[in-house]
Amino acid sequence: MISNFTSTKMKLVQITTIKMKNFKLFSNSNKRLYSKCKTNSYDVLVVGGGIVGFATARALLSRNKHLHVGLVEKENRPSVHQSGHNSGVIHAGIYYKPGTMRAKMCIEGLYKTYEYCAKNNIPHKKCGKLIVATNESQIKSLNDLYERGLENGTPDIKLINRNDIKTIEPYCNGVRAIHSPHTGIVDWAVVTKHYAADFINLGGQITYNFKVKSFEEYKHNRALRIISEKNKEILADYIITCGGLQSDELSLMTGCQPDPYILPIRGEYLLLGKEKAHLVKGNIYPVPDPSLPFLGVHFTPRMDGSVFLGPNAVLALKQEGYSWGDVSVSNTIRLLKLEGVQKLMTKHMKFGINETIKSLFPALQLKEIQNYIPDIKQNDINKGPTGVRAQPLWADGTMAEDLVLDIASNDPSDLVKHRIMHCRSAPSPSATSSLPIGEVIVDKMFAKYPRLSLIPN
Ligand SMILES: Cc1cc2nc3c(=O)[nH]c(=O)nc-3n(C[C@H](O)[C@H](O)[C@H](O)COP(=O)(O)OP(=O)(O)OC[C@H]3O[C@@H](n4cnc5c(N)ncnc54)[C@H](O)[C@@H]3O)c2cc1C
Repeated sequence: MISNFTSTKMKLVQITTIKMKNFKLFSNSNKRLYSKCKTNSYDVLVVGGGIVGFATARALLSRNKHLHVGLVEKENRPSVHQSGHNSGVIHAGIYYKPGTMRAKMCIEGLYKTYEYCAKNNIPHKKCGKLIVATNESQIKSLNDLYERGLENGTPDIKLINRNDIKTIEPYCNGVRAIHSPHTGIVDWAVVTKHYAADFINLGGQITYNFKVKSFEEYKHNRALRIISEKNKEILADYIITCGGLQSDELSLMTGCQPDPYILPIRGEYLLLGKEKAHLVKGNIYPVPDPSLPFLGVHFTPRMDGSVFLGPNAVLALKQEGYSWGDVSVSNTIRLLKLEGVQKLMTKHMKFGINETIKSLFPALQLKEIQNYIPDIKQNDINKGPTGVRAQPLWADGTMAEDLVLDIASNDPSDLVKHRIMHCRSAPSPSATSSLPIGEVIVDKMFAKYPRLSLIPN
């Protein structure tokens, strides 16, 4: 059963609160009370140590400090994948369809991120952002985007002209732009580390190097047994998975429907040489193509003083395919056989081919870059890092744009299908929206499994 909060997909069902017998989770007579000193049995286990997993884990304990919560991650530290390989932008919610959870959570996330960074002394910069039209033909789309930003409640955005662009970004060409003064930058891997520290301070326990291989019912005391690839095991009453690029794989382990599939889309950055970093003051973005889920090649100052140009968007040949050399033939064939993927590729064939050519010949991106900042020359750019985005795709080829939570069955007697909730789509920009996403996931878990919100007498 899936909850898609846009409710655009009629086949989807909102997660409903079911009435369950109120077990006394914390009474002495209940053998299933997992004492905080035990390390391998939990009331709730979170799978996935990215920013969404840690935001959810800390929210669970902030809401009910009596729970015994664990988190497992297959890597040896937090944010090895998307949460540590992104543009580092604190988005202000301009782009997203008004009224969606995605739009609301982004703006709420913007405010909460600044508040959180200030409280925890996390370095960040409110450097602002321009979305720039470089010619008259882009003005209508720019104006539409501005209206959308206003409707979403993006704070203090303004439409500005050529001269104003020059006062904000002296080296940038443009005929008209949207100025978003509250867009900022932060290192999301640092933010994730802070969430992990909050989780530990609230009594949570983290197990790294634990790659979940399967979930089973532990008949002995009606709990769930989580088994790792190395055959280690952990017990838990309830589970939430926040598996990013593997979220479809984890969902299939408990009998959920196959879609939304996760398409791995690699974004490759170029790095602007340090001596030219002064050409970029804040974030500079193009007017996006509304039919694509990518914001286009942008200029992003980083907290370490460097400047990223990009990313592009190419189909990765592996879920964690950070370069053309990272290939899983079986996974790529599996994806290419899916009707939804074929439909998407046919629809965006021209875009896909262009992006692939630019990926193989990065020099071709220079022309696009010089449309905005002509002073950037070939010698000023080098190959930069890459990140792989988990793009959720429905079987009919449409992209899932909002939060999608999934539970395989409503039947409480089937523990594996009923007690494991999967976060299958964490709508980008889910680093910016991570605090609200964590809260919404906990709301849904507490509504679905009311025992979790109980506190001891
Ligand atoms: C190129 C790029 C640029 C982006 N730019 C921005 C931006 O500027 N601003 C913004 O707000 N957002 C941005 N995003 C989006 C944002 O980074 C992601 O949406 C967010 O990091 C997703 O977090 P996550 O926790 O869901 O996924 P991840 O960070 O990928 O975490 C999932 C974790 O689950 C673990 N896992 C998976 N399977 C298992 C298993 N079987 N057992 C145990 N652990 C498992 C993985 O190892 C991983 O650590 C960008 C993304 C990309 C790729």
